Amino acid sequence: MTREENKLPREMGTAKLEEVEKGCVLYNLDPIIMKYHYEIDYIHSYGQDSPFFAGLSKGQLLGSRCPACGSTFATPRGHCMNCGARTEWMELPLEGKIHTYTTCYFGSEEFLNETPFTLILVEWPGVDTFFLSRLIGVDPKDVAIGMPVKAKFRRLSQFKPTDVYFVPA
Ligand SMILES: [Zn+2]
Repeated sequence: MTREENKLPREMGTAKLEEVEKGCVLYNLDPIIMKYHYEIDYIHSYGQDSPFFAGLSKGQLLGSRCPACGSTFATPRGHCMNCGARTEWMELPLEGKIHTYTTCYFGSEEFLNETPFTLILVEWPGVDTFFLSRLIGVDPKDVAIGMPVKAKFRRLSQFKPTDVYFVPA
């Protein structure tokens, strides 16, 4: 419809809005409880964690190291858990070992279609904490503690924790 056609003709005085054919989902009449679609775009900042997500988009796994006491964190932290000093970024090796694992038969909406899936804690020698990620391509019954794994990265980064996953090394 052109802009001209869309104009209400003033001289008619009885112009009507177009009727809608769309129905609605009604759960209750008194009081009226109905389904209403709601959607927003959310502007989110990763703040000090940004280098970690930028790293994933470049095929790098970044942890952090405390310059004061030498503690290292596979899941990066802005400040040291042990002494509170500000940490520095460090690159983790892409190959590590499974410290422990669990197979999930239920998940949040994001992962429901992928159940069952296996979550692993990855360990590296000399790194003081573990990294939580997903193990792909291994039957849950074949997963083992100590299994060598290597990081893979999604080709099209979404700047999300799921940009990285692990496969057998
Ligand atoms: Zn420290």
